[in-house]
Amino acid sequence: MAMMIDSSLCTACGDCEPVCPTGAIIPSKGLFTIKADICTECEPDHDMPQCLNVCMEDGCIVPVED
Ligand code: SF4
Ligand code: SF4
Repeated sequence: MAMMIDSSLCTACGDCEPVCPTGAIIPSKGLFTIKADICTECEPDHDMPQCLNVCMEDGCIVPVED
């Protein structure tokens, strides 16, 4: 499982990038994107995705739909 960033809602503030324990968040085309093959949803280290915890934009970071 992985999280993803809705590019239509991301303000490119960059707050999520440094809190990611796996380095899955990378700058892309002036915004930020989550590499799904690296994102662990912060398990097992945290009880919630740390990027979601810091992102101020409602609905911007959501689970990847399978
Ligand atoms: S914290 Fe949210 S708005 Fe800011 S760069 Fe990350 S995804 Fe975009
Ligand atoms: S859920 Fe965790 S591992 Fe995945 S991108 Fe967000 S901070 Fe990084």
